[in-house]
Amino acid sequence: MRIVLVGPPGAGKGTQAQFIATHLSIPKISTGDIFRANVSGGTELGLLAKQYMDKGDLVPDEVTIAMVRDRLAEEDARKGFLLDGFPRTVPQAETLKEMLAEWGDKLDLVLELIVDEDEVVRRLSGRRTCAQCGRVSHVVFESGGSGKTVDVCGYCGGQLFQRDDDKEETVRHRLEVYTEQTAPLVSFYANEGILVGIDATGPVEEITERAMAELRPFTK
Ligand code: ADP
Ligand code: AMP
Repeated sequence: MRIVLVGPPGAGKGTQAQFIATHLSIPKISTGDIFRANVSGGTELGLLAKQYMDKGDLVPDEVTIAMVRDRLAEEDARKGFLLDGFPRTVPQAETLKEMLAEWGDKLDLVLELIVDEDEVVRRLSGRRTCAQCGRVSHVVFESGGSGKTVDVCGYCGGQLFQRDDDKEETVRHRLEVYTEQTAPLVSFYANEGILVGIDATGPVEEITERAMAELRPFTK
């Protein structure tokens, strides 16, 4: 299966991607995660990407596309993948289509996670990432209703940190970038006849179930 998740920053793409990819036994490929790993590793790609990421801007298409091309050519992605955070512009979507066609493949489904802007801001302002296992969680939503903030990872006990680009000013800019550059993908994929929108509010497990209900027909 070849699947893309689209939706604004904070829609829950990363959260859902890990569960869906596990259910379908396909690799989850997150361009944001790959860029962040390069930033932490101090690679040339990381140094370049950081200049854009810190401002909440998109990394240029040619850089992002070259990175994704290399990743999709790896053995584990040849039989299927779940893309999280790519494509993010119409030129990226067009190149992805051409790239897959070269290999005799195509996307099966694009899942749009639908969440309103107020909810996205609430989610991003409390998003934390585990320094040890990389999972995302939320400082308030995962407090079990106690209202206290959580500072260690609920999965592995590692220390949680806030992404630099989740600071309020940057979040606002990232949402504008989404509206201008990424939202047009919704009509792009609707025209391709492969777009399905799901309500991405409510408990994480229920959203995974809604996504799986759309994806199961393709697994038969
Ligand atoms: P994206 O990858 O789309 O930017 P994330 O998966 O990182 O979004 O989720 C953003 C924040 O919202 C995280 O703090 C995550 O824990 C939280 N979150 C994800 N799904 C839900 C949900 N269904 N309800 C409440 N919070 C959620
Ligand atoms: P994410 O983790 O998906 O929120 O991505 C974090 C940041 O990485 C974005 O704000 C961009 O700066 C960069 N990035 C991730 N994916 C892409 C992409 N497909 N195109 C351009 N920039 C990207």
